[in-house]
Amino acid sequence: MPVFSKKDFDTHEQVLFCHDASADLFGIIAIHNTNLGPAAGGCRMYPYESTDKALTDVLRLSKGMSYKNAMAGLPLGGGKCVIIADPSRLDKAALLRAFSKHVQRLGGKYWTAIDIGINPADADVMAENCDYIFTRASQYPEGFNPSVFTALGGFVGIKAVVKHIWGKSDLKGLKVAVQGLGATGRDLSRQLFEAGAELMVTDIREEAVQYVVENYQATAVPPDEIHAQDVDVFAPCAMGAIVNDTSINEIKAKAICGLANNQLATQDHGVELVKRGIVYVPDYVVNAGGMIGAGAKIFSNPTMEESKQKVLGIHDTILNLLSRADQEKRPTSEIADEMALEMMAGKD
Ligand code: NAD
Repeated sequence: MPVFSKKDFDTHEQVLFCHDASADLFGIIAIHNTNLGPAAGGCRMYPYESTDKALTDVLRLSKGMSYKNAMAGLPLGGGKCVIIADPSRLDKAALLRAFSKHVQRLGGKYWTAIDIGINPADADVMAENCDYIFTRASQYPEGFNPSVFTALGGFVGIKAVVKHIWGKSDLKGLKVAVQGLGATGRDLSRQLFEAGAELMVTDIREEAVQYVVENYQATAVPPDEIHAQDVDVFAPCAMGAIVNDTSINEIKAKAICGLANNQLATQDHGVELVKRGIVYVPDYVVNAGGMIGAGAKIFSNPTMEESKQKVLGIHDTILNLLSRADQEKRPTSEIADEMALEMMAGKD
């Protein structure tokens, strides 16, 4: 299907198809909106079945970055890129160098970073011939993963929810169900435990569950029962579409606030959550911590502490969003989209 006719084309400013025969490179850079500043968003390496599937993914992700960056109050637009390849390829470094030349040619209109299939060490490889790469391993202390910023955003997001619903500033005794104990879910669990919350957790990786049970006094539950726990907050930190036609009837939590992308199977599920009195924090608002913390390196060289301070702003953004949703009796997901569009339009 022609690019311009695709539903997901939306209002993209630029879509660049990148090829390098000597490196066997096939990639796409999508720049959705630069009204607020240069576009920024990660680079995904994935063996897509077809160019069309890669194109659909990059267009959706890049639009999502425009909304995320706007809601986070960042002077950044939205963009994303994909490299169509298996990230375990032995010639990965050559592929990354060939691709980052294309990013360099955009002269700073687009900045890229880690995502699925690309880690902070890979970002350093891309930076060998490109000035527009962030989340590089060399920018942080050894072993540090920028996902820690995302987890911090999730923690203050849950604090905002607790303040909004129960008027409390502490999390003692709060019951939280965490789905997915990877880079974000595990660190979120640590912070919740240290703040006195009681955790129900799950993962499909037994060792990940074991770690959190042993270190953070969590109770393990089967993966297909995590959404149905009798808890105060459900924090999805694994895959998308966890709020769907089946699960929505079983969710007992008063609020959903987690770090996974695309948690609602459809926008209608946001409307249904309002009817059921369940507070939903839109995923791209609460999971912006990685962009806020790591993206700060685009503009200056903040210390780790300064970057973390910026992430804490997610708390008040969520409080404002939740009170506007209450006043207008409308889904938070709709209101967040509206607010992001207003911000993008405001700088035109
Ligand atoms: P990760 O791969 O490190 O962890 C995901 C975990 O979920 C893994 O431990 C995996 O085993 C588990 N999992 C997968 N399917 C599951 C299932 N059905 N039930 C239970 N557990 C399951 O990923 P991450 O970096 O922690 O990201 C988690 C989510 O947050 C993703 O949706 C990601 O797109 C989103 N996100 C992450 C960041 C970041 O900074 N890492 C930023 C924004 C959004």
